[in-house]
Amino acid sequence: MAQVTFSNITKRFGTVIAVNDLNLEIKDQEFMVFVGPSGCGKTTALRMLAGLEEPSEGSISVDDRRVDDLSPRDRDIAMVFQSYALYPHMTVYDNIAFSLRLRELKTTVWQLSHWGEAQNVKRSIDERVKAAAQMLGILELLHRKPKELSGGQRQRVALARAIVRKPKVFLMDEPLSNLDAKLRDQTRAELKKLQEALGVTTLYVTHDQKEAMTLGSRIAVMNHGKLQQVGTPEEVYHHPANLFVAGFIGTPPMNFFKGSVSDGAFQSPAMRFSLPPEAMEKTRAYGGKPVILGVRPQDFFPADAPAPRVQPSEPFEARIDVIEPLGDRMDLHLVAGETRFIAQVNADYACHEQDTLRLAIDLRRLHLFDQQTEQAIVS
Ligand code: ATP
Repeated sequence: MAQVTFSNITKRFGTVIAVNDLNLEIKDQEFMVFVGPSGCGKTTALRMLAGLEEPSEGSISVDDRRVDDLSPRDRDIAMVFQSYALYPHMTVYDNIAFSLRLRELKTTVWQLSHWGEAQNVKRSIDERVKAAAQMLGILELLHRKPKELSGGQRQRVALARAIVRKPKVFLMDEPLSNLDAKLRDQTRAELKKLQEALGVTTLYVTHDQKEAMTLGSRIAVMNHGKLQQVGTPEEVYHHPANLFVAGFIGTPPMNFFKGSVSDGAFQSPAMRFSLPPEAMEKTRAYGGKPVILGVRPQDFFPADAPAPRVQPSEPFEARIDVIEPLGDRMDLHLVAGETRFIAQVNADYACHEQDTLRLAIDLRRLHLFDQQTEQAIVS
């Protein structure tokens, strides 16, 4: 059982506010991913939970116990870093066993006076090291030194070293970022399975939104030290709370069109279409005021080839500037008026660069934001 709670946590470094009034509850066994651009404060949040930084304000608890006044070693938390931080002179076995010998058992085996007790302790460490190594598929590497391992193998050793301690909470700071793309995809899937099997509450930091979407049971999106939104991958993707989250989550990124709402319609230099009833209701107070329309590339379609179940808007025209084939789909780089945007269509849709295309928007997937506050009005 380990629920982690950040309450009004702020961290300042001089005049820089790295984390600004963070309130967040991470449930027992949850895989929570902190995601955001470089410098948004995600690592600092993690380091405060680990005890490597002291909060300027607020408190952090694990279950009902406040931990921010405990030393790092008393918090029962294991951290896996981007640089695996293995001891180069030790074998894989010793790297994994090291924390057990030191932390879990409080004293090293060879210091125990009673021979029988020492043997039990040694056996228990051995069993746990081998079980962790087995789980991560590195049993045959236990005798090697870190320099004799590939990046992926080192990363597994770092994970084994964390799980062998059976901590209450795992903290992972971009642990996959040193791996090549293929190994990264493979290890990501394994990490997800491992976390589910172990059931240990996990906080994971990444700037990669794809990694966040695939790993997280929930995602905490941060920007400039502020928590922007927390929700399941589906929630942050389909219902972004503001313009930042909408633009940060999803590939290719969401397209934005500056315009206004009047007489139940959205209009911009690129397009004009009637809003569906729910959006009309929510934008009632916005008559004539500037808003921003957000449409994901996947939510446009050629007006003459609507996909089943879409709720089409009135069509508008755009010129195809560039076509990027992606196998089963194509990214169309389009220009409507002065506005450039990307629409994704099926690869078999017949079109050419410089064609004028009649496009429609799936109104079920419409996003509208307040241009001033950047908060979602319809999402
Ligand atoms: P990255 O993905 O680049 O690691 P991040 O989102 O993890 O970024 P943090 O490392 O938490 O961001 O940094 C948040 C802000 O705090 C940044 O502006 C950073 O420069 C600043 N910062 C972090 N650590 C320190 C420090 N020890 N002293 C001064 N400023 C710091």
